[in-house]
Amino acid sequence: MTIKTKKDETPSVTLHDKFGRALNSLRISVTQRCNLQCFYCHREGEAASKNEMTKEEIAKIARMACEFGMKKIKLTGGEPLLREDLPDIVREIAEYANEVSLTTNGVLLEKYAQTLSKAGLKRVNVSLPSLNPEHFRRITKKDCAQQVKDGIKAAVQSHLHPVKINMVVLKGINVDEIPKAIDFAQEVGAILQLIEFEPIQPENYVHWKTFHYDLVSTENWLKEKAVSIQENPLHKRRRYILEKNSSPVCVEIVQPMHNSTFCENCTRLRVTSNGKLKPCLLRKNNLVDIVSLIRKGASPDELREAFRKAVMLREPYWKRRNEELQLAFA
Ligand code: SAM
Repeated sequence: MTIKTKKDETPSVTLHDKFGRALNSLRISVTQRCNLQCFYCHREGEAASKNEMTKEEIAKIARMACEFGMKKIKLTGGEPLLREDLPDIVREIAEYANEVSLTTNGVLLEKYAQTLSKAGLKRVNVSLPSLNPEHFRRITKKDCAQQVKDGIKAAVQSHLHPVKINMVVLKGINVDEIPKAIDFAQEVGAILQLIEFEPIQPENYVHWKTFHYDLVSTENWLKEKAVSIQENPLHKRRRYILEKNSSPVCVEIVQPMHNSTFCENCTRLRVTSNGKLKPCLLRKNNLVDIVSLIRKGASPDELREAFRKAVMLREPYWKRRNEELQLAFA
């Protein structure tokens, strides 16, 4: 079977899962190492492992995903900027992907923003759980709030647009900081993403009970202030456009818990840092080991089969109840 691979060409094969969701993006974890210790971290839903893929293996998997129409590739971790070969990985994937993006804690971003932009990185998400240095230290166990802010500014200057600031909202710590975070996003020219705390790792649960904050009231507040409301096709996340001093700022809500709409509109497949295709952030029991196949010298068709298998294992984690489903498809 010949599959077109060049940038911007319509793929001849697009994978759909059993629930009709077309796959268009791949989120690859490139390491589990991290230079922060955020107490809420879900570690991309991975089991602990020290086994990392090589840059060649990452590139091979990304290339195959692009053949299947997953041409938006996001690199995550751990902290991806701890990999010295990250610019090489970006450069290679940018050859065939439509968009290579990165999610980072921003600590090393000021140093690497230009290099990554030149390597072909299109955009970046930067975690900034608090602007307040004391709260930042409480959450991450490190004194890096200023470094992260500088990293965000460097990303904007390096045209890694849109720069998105990721803020996991935590009851009793940073909820009151949301207006300041909106001001900061506007000042630097970034989008603010307010993310609901998800308890994915067993160790998250104890913190979740204390710090989980339901974003409903925040969303109602945003609805009142917004001059317009838009939608991100991924997960149908709402985007609220506010206006301050005649200039706009966008606040996106990421609210996955008990949200069937979120899962119905999930169009991404994941890869763990140790080389397994991961159909869902919230499930650990349906991984497809692709890196072992690569290491055994599997043929392209065998690797394609692994992709198809992983896609067929996809299942929405949060589902509508039966009667709601009947209404939706009536
Ligand atoms: N180190 C990078 C960073 O900080 O962005 C990449 C890894 S981090 C796991 C990826 C994203 O997951 C970040 O935006 C972070 O805020 C978010 N995240 C981590 N733990 C979370 C949780 N328990 N619930 C919701 N989002 C979480």
